[in-house]
Amino acid sequence: MDTRTTIIALAYLVSAVLFILGLKGLTHPRTAVRGNLIGALGMLLAVVVTLVSQQIVGYWLIGVGLVIGTVVGAVLAIRIQMTAMPQMVALFNGFGGAASVLVAWSELIVLAGHVRELSAKELPVPGDVYGTLVSGLLAGLIGAVTFWGSLVAFAKLQEYKAFRKPYEYPFMKLGNVALGLLVVLLVVLGVMCPGSVWPYVLLVLVASVLGVTLVNPIGGADMPVVIALLNSYSGLAAAATGFVLDNSVLIIAGSLVGASGVILTQIMCKAMNRSLAHVLFGVLAPTDGSATADEVYGGKVKATSAEEVAMLFESARRVVIVPGYGLAVAQAQHTVRDLAKLLESRGCAVEFAIHPVAGRMPGHMNVLLAEAEVPYDQLKEPDEINAAMGQTDVALVIGANDVVNPEARNPKSAIAGMPIIDCDKARTCVVVKRSLSPGFAGIPNPLFALDNTLMFFGDGRKAMLDLLAAMKE
Ligand code: NDP
Repeated sequence: MDTRTTIIALAYLVSAVLFILGLKGLTHPRTAVRGNLIGALGMLLAVVVTLVSQQIVGYWLIGVGLVIGTVVGAVLAIRIQMTAMPQMVALFNGFGGAASVLVAWSELIVLAGHVRELSAKELPVPGDVYGTLVSGLLAGLIGAVTFWGSLVAFAKLQEYKAFRKPYEYPFMKLGNVALGLLVVLLVVLGVMCPGSVWPYVLLVLVASVLGVTLVNPIGGADMPVVIALLNSYSGLAAAATGFVLDNSVLIIAGSLVGASGVILTQIMCKAMNRSLAHVLFGVLAPTDGSATADEVYGGKVKATSAEEVAMLFESARRVVIVPGYGLAVAQAQHTVRDLAKLLESRGCAVEFAIHPVAGRMPGHMNVLLAEAEVPYDQLKEPDEINAAMGQTDVALVIGANDVVNPEARNPKSAIAGMPIIDCDKARTCVVVKRSLSPGFAGIPNPLFALDNTLMFFGDGRKAMLDLLAAMKE
C-alpha cells in the first residue's frame, strides 16, 4: 500500500470512528446535539478526502452538482414546515436510494464494457468482477425499492387523497410474490451475463414496481415502521454501492444506517405491537369492527372551557400531559412547558407521557419538548405512565388522538393491539383539539365520549394560553 492510499484509508477510519461516536451521542437527548456535530464532522472529513482522492470526474462537474444540490437542499430546508419534516426525511431516504441506483448503473456500464473486451480477447473473467456485479445488482434492487417506496410514503404522509387509505387489489400478495421471484431471476440473469447491463435495467424497473406495490397497501397508522424500514434500506443500498466503488467509508456509513434503521424498525414494531411481516404483508384498513363517528359520539361529547379546566387543576395533585401530532401543528410546546411549570409551582406533580409513535416521525415529541427545555426525566414511556394512570387526577391530551384511542383494545379495529396511553383510566381526561375529526389512522375515538372526558375545543397553543390566563386570574 503506498503512502497516499494509507493516508486515505486512515482518514476513512477516523471518519468511521466519528460516525460511531456520533451515533452513540444520539442515543441520549443530553448528548444528541454533540453527537450530531461529531457525525457531521465525520461526514465532512469523508467527503473532503473522497473529493481530493478521486481522479475520475472533473472538479467542475462536481462543483455543478454541489451548487445544484445546495440550492435545492437549502430552499427545501428553509421552506419546509416543522410538521412536514417526516415527509422530508422520506424524500431524503428516497434520494439516497436513487443515488445508489445511478452510481451502480454507471459502474456496471464500465464493468460490462471491460467484460466484453476480455471476451473479445477470449480471456477469462476475473472472480472479483462477479463480486462487483452482485453488489451493483443489489444496490440497484434495494435503491429502486427505496426510491419508489419512499415516494409513496411521502404521498401518504402528505395525505394526498389517492394514497390516504390502505389500498388493496385482487391477488395483491400473489402479485408481490411473483415480482419477488422475477427479481431473483433477474439477479441470476445479471450474474450470468456480466457483459450486459440489460438485466440490471430490467431489475431496476421491476424493483420500482415492487417499491410501489409493497408500500402502497400499508395503512397510515403503520407508516412509522415503513419510514424506519426505508431508512434502513437506503443505508443497505449505500453499503452495496460502497462495495461497487470499493469505498470503505461508504460501506461503513451505509451499514451503520442500515443497522440503526433495523433497530428503529424493531422499536417501532414493538411500540405498535405489530410484527414486521404483518406490517409489510397485511392490509390494515378499518374493519367492520370499528363503529362510525355518529355511533361513537352521538349526544355523548361534553365540551369544556379554559375556566372550567383551570378550576379542575386547582385541586389536582397529579397531572399527566399527553402530547401528539396536534402539539407540533399548533407549536404549543413552549406554552405547555409554561403550564407544567405553573402547576409544579402549585405543588402538583406533572409528567409527560410520550408514546413512541406520537407525531409523524420517531422521536417527534421528544424533539419538540427538548426544544422547549422540558426536563428529560419528566418524559415517561407508556408502560411507566400507565402503571400510575389510575392515581392521576387529570390527563391532559394535547393534539393526540390515535395514541390514546381505547379502540386499540378492540381486536377488530384497524389499530388493534397498538399499546396506548390509558387516559381513560385517569379521574378526569381533558382533550385539547379543534374538532372531533379522526387522527392519522382515520377511526373515531371513544375516549372523547366517555363520562370522565371533557373536550376543550380549539387550537392547541391558543387553548394553552387561555388556560394559563384563566389559572393566573
Ligand atoms: P393523530 O394523527 O392520531 O391525531 C392528531 C390530532 O391532532 C388530530 O386528531 C387533530 O385533531 C389534532 N390537531 C391537529 N392540529 C391541531 C392544532 N393546531 N391544535 C390542536 N389539535 C390539533 O396523532 P397522534 O400523535 O396521536 O398519533 C400519531 C399517528 O400518526 C399514529 O396513527 C401513528 O401511527 C401515525 N404516524 C406516526 C409516525 C411516527 O413516526 N411517529 C409516522 C407516520 C404516521 P383536530 O383536527 O380536530 O384538531
